[in-house]
Amino acid sequence: MVMRRKIVAGNWKMNGSKDLSEKLVGYVRTEAGSLDNGVEVVIIPPAIYIRDVVGQAGGAVSVGVQNVGQWQSGAYTGEISSEMAKDSGCDYVLVGHSERRQIFGETDELVAEKVALVVASGLTAIVCVGETLEERESGSAESVVESQVRQGLSAVSGAWKNVVVAYEPVWAIGTGKTATAEDAQAMHASIRTVLKEMGAPAEEISLLYGGSVKADNAAALFAEPDIDGGLIGGASLVAEEFISICRYF
Ligand code: PGA
Repeated sequence: MVMRRKIVAGNWKMNGSKDLSEKLVGYVRTEAGSLDNGVEVVIIPPAIYIRDVVGQAGGAVSVGVQNVGQWQSGAYTGEISSEMAKDSGCDYVLVGHSERRQIFGETDELVAEKVALVVASGLTAIVCVGETLEERESGSAESVVESQVRQGLSAVSGAWKNVVVAYEPVWAIGTGKTATAEDAQAMHASIRTVLKEMGAPAEEISLLYGGSVKADNAAALFAEPDIDGGLIGGASLVAEEFISICRYF
């Protein structure tokens, strides 16, 4: 059996403060030290707090950014690059979160460009995919996700060890509605099949589930064979809950 990385990543979105960066990350660092289940804990704060979080994380917790631009430097006011994220101590970059896709109009083509830069920087891209409620209800969830995976990962050029896929059904994000463990497992298995068809070492790629993961539903999700961790939004802002999710592996 292939050992895949087990990852629990907290996406703070546009939340948090200097104070939260100190208190929450300090607590998570201490508790993460005593986890004996091999889970890698990742915190993904707003970019402006990266240095604070990296300082508090002290190497026990990994850090990521929520987005990067499709360039490495230049006259792109307001943007940051994967090289800068790396320089600031990050190991992970979220790419193509559904909020980026829906609010900022990011396309699969743009996601692919960003993924190529992230993996070239030696960072791990957590590439987010997921269907809307309408797409699920019309029976096209699997084909929508398949196409996001194929297009979004079309420029990985063999750097598969730098890729993690997060399946986040849009209707489950921040709504309190989670996919059932069975539905999530079925989609993860289907994503793994697509990765295999793309020539990727699919058994080695970690697939995270995201969308209203909480302390009371994490255990059932993480028990599924193709669910290798979670991408946690709201619950990652509460230190105790975030750590209890990490313990459920
Ligand atoms: P949620 O967000 O846990 O608040 O649903 C998950 C995400 O958007 O990554």
